[in-house]
Amino acid sequence: MTDICSLSLTAVATALQKKELSAAETTAACLERMAATEPEIAAMLTVDADGARSRAAELDRQGPDPALPLWGVPVTLKDALSTKGLATTAGSRILEGFTPIYDAFVVEKLRAAGAVILGKANLDEFAMGSGTENSAYKKTRNPWNTAKTPGGSSGGSAASVAAGQCFASLGSDTGGSIRQPASLCGCVGIKPTYGRVSRYGLIAYGSSLDQIGPLARSVEDCARVLTVIAGHDPRDATSDPRPVQDYAAALTRCDLKGVRLGLPREFFKDGLTPEVRAACDAALQKARDQGAELVEVSLPHTDAAIATYYIIAMAEASSNLARFDGVRYGRRAANVKNLEELYVKSRSEGFGQEVKRRIMLGAYVLSSGYYDAYYRKAAQVRRLIRDEYLAALELCDALCAPVSPVTAWDLGSHTADPLQMYLMDAYTLSLNLSGLPGLALPAGLGRESGMPVGLQLIGKAFEEADLLSIGHALERALPHIGRPQI
Ligand code: GLN
Repeated sequence: MTDICSLSLTAVATALQKKELSAAETTAACLERMAATEPEIAAMLTVDADGARSRAAELDRQGPDPALPLWGVPVTLKDALSTKGLATTAGSRILEGFTPIYDAFVVEKLRAAGAVILGKANLDEFAMGSGTENSAYKKTRNPWNTAKTPGGSSGGSAASVAAGQCFASLGSDTGGSIRQPASLCGCVGIKPTYGRVSRYGLIAYGSSLDQIGPLARSVEDCARVLTVIAGHDPRDATSDPRPVQDYAAALTRCDLKGVRLGLPREFFKDGLTPEVRAACDAALQKARDQGAELVEVSLPHTDAAIATYYIIAMAEASSNLARFDGVRYGRRAANVKNLEELYVKSRSEGFGQEVKRRIMLGAYVLSSGYYDAYYRKAAQVRRLIRDEYLAALELCDALCAPVSPVTAWDLGSHTADPLQMYLMDAYTLSLNLSGLPGLALPAGLGRESGMPVGLQLIGKAFEEADLLSIGHALERALPHIGRPQI
């Protein structure tokens, strides 16, 4: 029999419904794969083997149900998502020992759709970072080459999917944290439109930027998961009431005939490494061969996006992270003399260096003397960036751009210079500023590094169905990069 873990989510879900596989054997296969690969990959912070086995056994007793689209399908979750009764750390010491009393909206949805939750995946502390190296607990390694980073901040999610430990994972994307690790690990990932997926139960980083979305091994697999997790939720005031489409059923395009892809001039200038440029150029040629029309568009404020994003993200983070005070959740400092000292010691001990840096910078840009110069200005530029995206999308069906200027880098090689890390997000974060959906998919392997290169499709707000359908057609035209030999 074929190795269960090498099947796509779509194939495994179908086999489960037909009783060709049981939930128990599928879960056992993933747990076995996890046990075999974790010593090298370290994608997971918590593995709930017993919980997963008993859930699978319960599902088998009930029998498959076509109304449950993920019946028996094993998944992992970024550890920034609240899971009832299962430790949730956000990759931070400050939440060490914290067990939530409720499930995030998306976790409720996954459970209700019949998914089996295997455990919680590693991430940069509070999702702040691009390589998962800011996790307070462990360093995750890229399944394609274990000397390299899986990307971040949803690096554990991407690595667990790429290593075949699960069929999909949920991540969160504030400035690229689904798309960039998906791209560096050769997976597919989508950041939905802001408001499409409820953030209820996602530990907040930058609330006006954060979106939850799936990482999986194909566009179709992502579409299936997105159909389950999207939808209105009154517990998130920014959640959108528009009805959810069946995104997998909407993958109707067979080719790219009649599709106009806009290439933002500013994204293809300098900054891309030669191998990323070559892989993107080859992918664009394939798109053209499939009938796509490529048009050049311009996003003139691209240069300002990084500064704008980091001001807004840090401002929101400084406010969101005020709740971690040693009283309400997780870790509390011992031997303190008064309340002030309790706060100071708990936060000093609990937060890592990058988180502290961002809280300080965020508090600074919001302080009364500097608010107008930084935060207000950033909010204005954000609007300009959004308007430019909307204008560019009037000229085409989707924009097409690289995900990351580089392929996965060696672990430890970039940790000394935070600014250099911030610059890596140039191609992803303006989507979060403008709220638009972005789909990352593998374009090929870098000719020098042999590591995956990702391409990004950027769609119109709430038109994920069309974006995924274009992505599905493009995916067929692109070379199959295969699986990492892990
Ligand atoms: N790398 C970016 C940051 O550090 C984006 C992270 C994310 O999307 N969560 O803020």
